[in-house]
Amino acid sequence: MKKAYNFNAGPCVLPKPAIEAAIEALKDFKGTGMSVIEVSHRSKEWEAVMDECRSLWKELLNIPEGYSVLFLGGGASLQFLYVAMNLLENKAGYLETGVWAKKALKEAKGIGNAYAVASSADKNYTYIPKGYEIPTDLDYFHITTNNTIKGTEIHEDMDCPVPLVADMSSDIMSRPVDVSKYALIYGGAQKNVGPAGVVFVIVKDEILGKVSRYLPTMLDYRTHIEGESMFNTPPVFSIFVMTETLKWVKAQGGVKAMYELNKKKAGMLYDEIDRNSLFVGTAAKEDRSLMNVCFVMAPGHEDLQDEFLAFAKERGMVGIKGHRSVGGFRASIYNACPIEAVEALIACMQEFEKMHK
Ligand SMILES: *Cc1c(COP(=O)(O)O)cnc(C)c1O
Repeated sequence: MKKAYNFNAGPCVLPKPAIEAAIEALKDFKGTGMSVIEVSHRSKEWEAVMDECRSLWKELLNIPEGYSVLFLGGGASLQFLYVAMNLLENKAGYLETGVWAKKALKEAKGIGNAYAVASSADKNYTYIPKGYEIPTDLDYFHITTNNTIKGTEIHEDMDCPVPLVADMSSDIMSRPVDVSKYALIYGGAQKNVGPAGVVFVIVKDEILGKVSRYLPTMLDYRTHIEGESMFNTPPVFSIFVMTETLKWVKAQGGVKAMYELNKKKAGMLYDEIDRNSLFVGTAAKEDRSLMNVCFVMAPGHEDLQDEFLAFAKERGMVGIKGHRSVGGFRASIYNACPIEAVEALIACMQEFEKMHK
């Protein structure tokens, strides 16, 4: 098989053991003589997968009592709407730190009174706003912990005077999280915990049921809490692979071990970006993401961009072209991206620098 160093932003690299378990389960799921995509979602074999997946979430993130863990369809983008419908009664505040945060705010505005408490739009979302005050009369405050496109990240679980809601699509399971500080955490699986097609939601039960609007059955979190994420047919294959991915995270030593490795990988790559005369990072240093490393050609070397992309591609680098709205380069180095891939990219940057000295 062709060797690829996969830096795609999502869907993206997944652990090899999870892919192998998926191949096996596609052929024969737990000795049933059927594929995992052929069995009934009401079978005991399938229910065991759902139970294991939920338990792994609770164990890995140390989720306290009083929270439910849900697996839904529709992508993180549909959660932008879910959150507002289920929680917005009078007023909601958003931290506008990038493209996804802006999209989340747009959906909330369609439902009620929602606004940006602070924004980093003035500098093209290259930093995380600080020193703003969160009004105490909000129904909730929404943050995007990792800005996948611009490569910034909120590194700490903040104290918040109102229920805190977080889109953690691209940094979930990359570090320990104090779930008790959040009222709701959601994200698409396809960045760090599985394939596309499933969304995770961790919700504090007591924050629900407080809005006066009519909630369509499928858009009411309580439907899915009651149905244990099987009110309707769940995305079985995506959930299966997510479960295998979480088993792998656990076998690596859990989120603490992931965090140490992620800091190491990101540190190496940022060090090279800062050292190498041909490249510069685009995000404010203190806010640099451990997951999505964004950089561009240094001033005066802009004309080398396409040449570097071709040079890196030749050496097996995949997916390092920056998002179409940013340009330059982005290396997404999620949990399952091996340190060898980061080393290969660094070697590539060093070799390219030598060629142009
Ligand atoms: C990718 C991404 C989304 C959108 O996810 P979909 O599942 O494609 O809707 C939302 N938020 C963040 C932070 C993302 O990285």
